[in-house]
Amino acid sequence: QLARFRRNRDKPSETMDGTLISIEMNAGLAMDMALLEEVGASGVGLFRTELQFLVGRELPSVREQTESYAAVLDAADGARIVFRTADIGSDKQAQYMHGPLEANPAMGWRGLRMSIDREGLLRMQLRALVAAAKGRPLTIMLPLVTTVSELHKAQEIISKELQRTEKLGETLPEKLEVGAMVEIPSAAWQAGELAEAADFLSIGGNDLAQFFFAADRESELVSRRYDYLSRPFISFLKRTIDSAKAAGKPVSYCGEQAADPLMALTLMGIGFERLSVSAITVPPLKEMVREVDLGELKAEMDKLLAQESAGTLRSDVKALAERLG
Ligand code: PEP
Ligand code: MG
Repeated sequence: QLARFRRNRDKPSETMDGTLISIEMNAGLAMDMALLEEVGASGVGLFRTELQFLVGRELPSVREQTESYAAVLDAADGARIVFRTADIGSDKQAQYMHGPLEANPAMGWRGLRMSIDREGLLRMQLRALVAAAKGRPLTIMLPLVTTVSELHKAQEIISKELQRTEKLGETLPEKLEVGAMVEIPSAAWQAGELAEAADFLSIGGNDLAQFFFAADRESELVSRRYDYLSRPFISFLKRTIDSAKAAGKPVSYCGEQAADPLMALTLMGIGFERLSVSAITVPPLKEMVREVDLGELKAEMDKLLAQESAGTLRSDVKALAERLG
């Protein structure tokens, strides 16, 4: 197992027919960065910055945030890190922040919704990210975007912070990319417009599946009841990535479902070339990528999706995986 792990670490994740599939890792604390090289991930496709907010007893200061982001960027040594702005609320509660009592917190005041209403918190975080970048490229991603106008609002807040940086004579990032997470069906349904307005999109499949199936990801009773490998969800994802690609913007998938090799294969088959998974899943996924003929996989996946039968594609994808070797 360990030998296999090591063997995969340093090899590129290129399909048999020569397409590079970027296999990235999800992380949340500066100390996770030791894993980047260890597992051979090409970057961090989702850095959950809220973890620093959730583990502490009080709001981390701009200085504490800056130190932590700087440590991440230093450890990354040039690899791309996608910093998701704090996604607080619902399943991610900070002890010291008390929002209103809500019957359905997953659909409530959380993520970007809270960041827009508590602009000061977002500005603090942006200030820390810009300071930590120290002129290096910076990639920011906004969680739980519901509408294009919310994305515009967030972009305005980012611009204001950059203007402040400039006015103070501090260093701006060499390049700033701002992406939107697609984890609400309304965002997926307008992925084209959202992609036009953003630098990139990333599908947050954990929340997207939760809202697609109306099945609380925190509920033992329903969270695993509906298969994400079902035809409706996969064709919904296909429509989403096709729209974003038509707008000429890159799209990644950072939901934990991509850790399931059949799901990873399916995602590649419908056009995803960038997957971000937990660190431990990176080596086996890289190994799988190198055994795939992407052209053949895509053709087979198109056929599968065009078939009439309803329900889960799991057994079909499994058979396909076996047939393709
Ligand atoms: C997601 O929702 O799929 C996602 C990647 O974000 P999180 O799991 O942190 O909500
Ligand atoms: Mg999410």
